[in-house]
Amino acid sequence: MSATSLSPRTENVSGWGMAVGGQALVIRPTSADGVRAALQLARSQGLKVALRGSGCSYGDAASGNGKLVVDLSQMNRILAWDPASGRVRAEAGTTLRQIWQHCLADGWWPPVVSGTMEPTLGGAVAMNIHGKNAFGVGPIGEHVRSLRVMMVDGSERTLTPEHDADLLHAIIGGLGELCVVLEVELQLKHIYSGFLDVHALAAPDLEEMFRIFDEWQDRSDYLVGWLDGFCGGKGLGRGLVHVAHQVKEGADPDPRRMLTVAAQSLPSRLFGILPKSWMWMLMKPFAHDLGMRLINVAKYWSGRLLEHDKRYRQTHAAFHFLLDYVPNWKFIYKPDGLIQHQIFVPKDKAREVFRQVLALEQARGLPTWLAVMKRHRPDPYLLTHGLDGYSLAQDFRVTKGNRERLWALCHEIDDIVVKAGGRFYFAKDATLRPASVAAAFPAENMKKFADVRKELDPEGLLATDLYDRAIAPVLDATKVAKG
Ligand SMILES: Cc1cc2nc3c(=O)[nH]c(=O)nc-3n(C[C@H](O)[C@H](O)[C@H](O)COP(=O)(O)OP(=O)(O)OC[C@H]3O[C@@H](n4cnc5c(N)ncnc54)[C@H](O)[C@@H]3O)c2cc1C
Repeated sequence: MSATSLSPRTENVSGWGMAVGGQALVIRPTSADGVRAALQLARSQGLKVALRGSGCSYGDAASGNGKLVVDLSQMNRILAWDPASGRVRAEAGTTLRQIWQHCLADGWWPPVVSGTMEPTLGGAVAMNIHGKNAFGVGPIGEHVRSLRVMMVDGSERTLTPEHDADLLHAIIGGLGELCVVLEVELQLKHIYSGFLDVHALAAPDLEEMFRIFDEWQDRSDYLVGWLDGFCGGKGLGRGLVHVAHQVKEGADPDPRRMLTVAAQSLPSRLFGILPKSWMWMLMKPFAHDLGMRLINVAKYWSGRLLEHDKRYRQTHAAFHFLLDYVPNWKFIYKPDGLIQHQIFVPKDKAREVFRQVLALEQARGLPTWLAVMKRHRPDPYLLTHGLDGYSLAQDFRVTKGNRERLWALCHEIDDIVVKAGGRFYFAKDATLRPASVAAAFPAENMKKFADVRKELDPEGLLATDLYDRAIAPVLDATKVAKG
């Protein structure tokens, strides 16, 4: 395929949160040849290239203002599936939804999934996504068995952890700034039931939230905390924790019954009548601080009074993809959208940092509408967010009136996190300044990343808006320091 046979279109490309983005030329190749031609086209037109999967990153990680956005979501074929070993190989635009739906009946589930099933494998690998089991199994990169990649010169390579560990440590979590991922081979995990055993626990304050995490982290497969960002005083950080266990082999007398896509699928109608696609409209009247305060209070107390210490079985899809249950729920944040900000803090500092951060948001009059806590562990990837500690992911509504104050709040939070030795997650980011990136990520890692980029993409063809805003200045500084 030649570069001239491609016909890119000008589109508005925003982050998932709809708060940042801009106009770009967009191209959707369907083959490796198409990707190669797109890279040539960009070069011939003097454009930078921003790679994109499903566009589920909240901020500007997959947008390319004034650039060529190469959207890989049409390269979405599953190429090989071995139900004996649980290995799947698929094109980079294949989504997590496609993977679990293809492999479920054989008793396998993706080792790591995000809170939505829409990310592509390429996007998941480029961000090195984590799930509610991050403390136990690490991010998705640890389950990658091979990557087929295209370098910016159009050459292709297959990389494996056995032969190319250092390169994979840069490319996985490398934000799509080193090469194009064409195919991913992933090791899935065996499941013996379509259900998970779930245990819901109420935590009346932050101290109890951490105590529950401590108690369960060595004894559970999945662990996630929801926090009420509006509650202050003694109840600061109160919330609900969901602990989940895989059903052991033989414990489900009829595993086949629920290991079907139909049994896992979330119902398409609410109460059997109302199309779920309308549900966000019912939520819209609550889309202000008072409404969200009420929802948070109701969620906490219903959890505490009705579900306190409650045990039940839930399908894998319902447990993992609750956020997909209300399609387009983000539309309640229209017209200006939302940002998410996820901080990662070492375990000995996390209690105090989370306390400070929640109190600061309330003091600034910008409480989070949704806050989720997870436990993590360190991993070997150069730009990793993983550390031995906890993360707090928080959604904030953006309005024309609060935008500047919200960005300033995020910068204040960043300073607290940096001081505590914490990190950030680029998939959720729209606000980080280069100085915070430089302070949070080890200089040695940034230097190694800069070296790999210089080798793989010497002309700097790949560059998303996130890269230009927060990463490039840090890498440039490492070059100056070296020179
Ligand atoms: C509701 C919701 C819940 C979420 N929950 C979680 C969660 O629990 N855990 C978590 O870790 N994340 C979570 N995320 C974030 C999401 O998993 C990541 O942003 C993921 O990277 C999105 O994949 P994508 O295909 O949409 O990639 P995009 O957002 O389109 O792109 C992400 C990055 O990948 C690069 N990229 C895309 N395709 C390729 C390719 N083929 N080759 C090289 N680079 C490529 C892009 O340049 C960009 O840097 C959530 C997002 C949403 C919207």
